This record gives sequence, structure tokens and C-alpha cells, in this order.
Amino acid sequence: MLIFEKSRAGRGCQILPPCDVPEILPEEREQRQQPLHLPALSEGDLSRHYTELAKKSHGVNDGFYPLGSCTMKYNPKIDEEAAALPGFTEIHPLQPAHTVQGCLEVLKTAESLLCQITGMDRMTFQPAAGAHGEFTGLLLIKAYHVSRGDTARTKILVPDSAHGTNPASAAMAGYKVVSIPSGPDGCVDLEKLREAAGDDVAGLMLTNPNTVGLFDKNILEITEIVHQCGGLCYYDGANLNAVMGQARPGDMGFDVVHLNLHKTFATPHGGGGPGSGPVDCKALLAPFLPSLLVEGESELSFRKPEQSVGEVKSFYGNFLVVVKALAYIWTLGREGIPEASANAVLNANYLMAKLKPWYPMAYDGICMHEFVMTLAELKKETGVSAMDIAKGLLDWGIHPPTMYFPLIVEEALMVEPTETESRETLDQAAEAFHSLYQAAKTKPESLHAAPVTTPVTRLDEVEAARHPHLRYSFEG
Ligand SMILES: *Cc1c(COP(=O)(O)O)cnc(C)c1O
Repeated sequence: MLIFEKSRAGRGCQILPPCDVPEILPEEREQRQQPLHLPALSEGDLSRHYTELAKKSHGVNDGFYPLGSCTMKYNPKIDEEAAALPGFTEIHPLQPAHTVQGCLEVLKTAESLLCQITGMDRMTFQPAAGAHGEFTGLLLIKAYHVSRGDTARTKILVPDSAHGTNPASAAMAGYKVVSIPSGPDGCVDLEKLREAAGDDVAGLMLTNPNTVGLFDKNILEITEIVHQCGGLCYYDGANLNAVMGQARPGDMGFDVVHLNLHKTFATPHGGGGPGSGPVDCKALLAPFLPSLLVEGESELSFRKPEQSVGEVKSFYGNFLVVVKALAYIWTLGREGIPEASANAVLNANYLMAKLKPWYPMAYDGICMHEFVMTLAELKKETGVSAMDIAKGLLDWGIHPPTMYFPLIVEEALMVEPTETESRETLDQAAEAFHSLYQAAKTKPESLHAAPVTTPVTRLDEVEAARHPHLRYSFEG
């Protein structure tokens, strides 16, 4: 039942204190003609309404949530507590720097630790999301070439196993996107890369691990080929939880990298924000970074780099997300960070090995933090699609994996268990997948209707996309 249907005129829970400033009415023409439709419910009914809604949705507090390419599902509560400290929340961006030295120290320390993790020299916290970081990184690459008078570089190379935001960001930065195909092993086809590398190439964007969950085994060769043609190398580090503490993009030859603090460093992804997609770069790109960089030793202050590409967001980005990231790095420490990435990879390989007998993997070999299976055969044989299996998992209390992504794999299901799941949870998930496989073989029709135990059963997704019904019609 919608909240408007529960509403009764005259009810409510107004608990606002009396107004202590003079009331100013807007001009007649600016006043609304009819009262606003606000639901009127008692406090108790309101609380129950939202509790009921919360119970209907599936979250990480309800069960296994193996949604691939979204990473971070572990959002330690202690990090939220740190970010809620009044010294961090009750400040104003225009406050003089000497009154917020602690906040500047957070930015400086987080920069130093994240640069150690990525093998870079400087960074900006301004970008608000991963894609925003990509765009910022490309602006740095562009500014670098232009500063050298090298203006004929109009292309960005993007392997077809890149995250979808990579080509979009390159196009937004004004570049022509050249797609580089993957070989049968799921890695960049080096021959094709060599053919494309030339003096019109500004750079390459590599998603690593790529969208099929593989670490490109030729990574050093890839960055070398690009550098030799005069281009720069961009590392999409959104899913750094697969490599953090193990290997550093800076050591692999990359010049610039973005991180998703709202995936790998303690802020939930997909929660509607705010997020943070900071960009780390080597010293050669630092002069072009957006403001504001924190500088100084005893007295910290902000500085705008001289050749800065300009602001990509106001002030210093989403500061509280950085507080959470710092708390996370400090809690895990030098041992915990590599342990988290090792567990992410171990869990993915464990579950992959368990599912392999029933669901063929799109690529052979060891995966990183996630793996992609292809249900093309199963569909041909039984009519049961990747969508049917994904929906069937809901009846087992499991959130569906990412479906039909990456696009280069037919009937794809992309599974990312994450580092925090126990072996028991992974075993139960494998049992659910197995039982759905058996159902597909013996009574495939049963899966077309799944899920059947959830508050809302199978939706007509085409109808929902074509004719979305988003407004409540008030009577009268
Ligand atoms: C999530 C993701 C992005 C985009 O991040 P947003 O914050 O959603 O813009 C980019 N690349 C990869 C590999 C990702 O997983």
C-alpha cells in the first residue's frame, strides 16, 4: 500500500518548533494555488510504513549479494562513525584553512596512503564518481600533450573488455575512441594494439582486472607499446579490491588511475551517493590536477596547481567519503589491505571452481575478484536463460549476479562474492546454483516464472521500461 493511501487528513506528526524568524510570504504569483499533497500519518504509522518497505527489499544485511563489477559490499560501521564526528560534519567549505587543519590532514594523509597503494605521486579528491574520475584523468592526459605542443593526438585506445564508462568518458573528453579487441584468452590482443598505436594516439584506458574478471597477463607490454608511440596509460582502478596491496598500477607503467572509494574503500556503491572517484597520477601530470591540493608541513593550506585543468567539482569533493576511506585503510593496515584483496580473489576462485561443473566459464584459468559464466549452451538446450537463473536465485534469498554484462559474453552472469563472505555462505550459494541447474534440466518451465516467494514476482521488464508508471494520481 502506498503512503498516500494510508494518509488521513488531519493526522500527522508535526514536531517542528515554533518559527523564530519573521514569516515572509512570497508574492501572490509565486504562491501555489492548491495545497501540497503531503501524506498525513502518525509517527508510528510512518515508521511502520518504511520498516515494511525496507523488509521487502534485499540488501547486504539480508543475504549473499554477488553483484559483479560493483565490489564493496563491506561497509564497516566504524567508518560511518568516524565520518559522523562533528569535527568533520559541522564545517563550512569557506572556513579559513587554519580552523580546519584536522580536515586538511585527513586529505593529506589519505592522499599519501592511496598514492602508496597505487604507486603514484599526487592526487585529486574532486571527482564524485568513477566515471567522473575517468573524465578528469583524460583531461590531464590532454593537458599534458597540449602543454608540449603535441596537438595531433586525437585518439584514445579502449580494449573491448573495458568498463562501459571508459569509451563514454573518452568521447566526452573530445577523443575518438578506438576499440581494441580481446583475444580468445580474454586479454588485449597485442597485435591489434600494435597496429593501432601511432602518433595520433593520446593514450590507452585499461580496465584491470577487466570486465571478464581477468588480470591482463601482458600488462607491462601493453603500457610499453603505448608509451613507445608517445601515448599515456590510464588505469581504471574502480575494482582495486582485487589487487590492492599486491600490485601497483604505478609499477605497471600507468601514468594515471582513478579509484572508486565507493567500491573498494568503505562507502557503499549504488546507494545513490555520495561517492568519490579520486584520481592519482605520476608527477608528470601533477601540474594539471584540478584544485585544491593540500600542501604544507606544520600549517596546511590549499593550493591550485599552476597549469590546472580547472575545477571538476566544487571545493575538494565529497570529503566525508574520504574520511571513511582513511578510517578503512587505518583499520586494515599494511597487513589487512593485501589480505582483503587476497580473500576477494580466493572467494571468487573457490565459488568459480564449485560452479564450473554446471555452468561453463566464459574464460579459462584463474580469475581475480569476479568471474563470468556463459549460459548460452544451457539456454539452447533447455530454454532457461541467464535471466531465469538470476531470478531463481531470489527464491533462495540470494541477490542476482550482474546479468548480460560484459556484452562480449553471450548469456553472461557475472559473480563477485567479495572478500567478506564465509566459506559456508559460498557453499550455500553453490547449492542454490546447483539446484537451479537441475531445475533447468528437469522442469525448465518452473524457472520462467521465478521468483515466486518474493513480495513482487517476475516483472514485465519491457513494459516497465517502455511505459514506466512513476506518478501517483491524486483524486480531485
Ligand atoms: C563502477 C565502475 C566504473 C564507474 O564508476 P561510477 O562511480 O559508477 O561512475 C568504472 N569502471 C569500472 C571498472 C567500474 O567497475
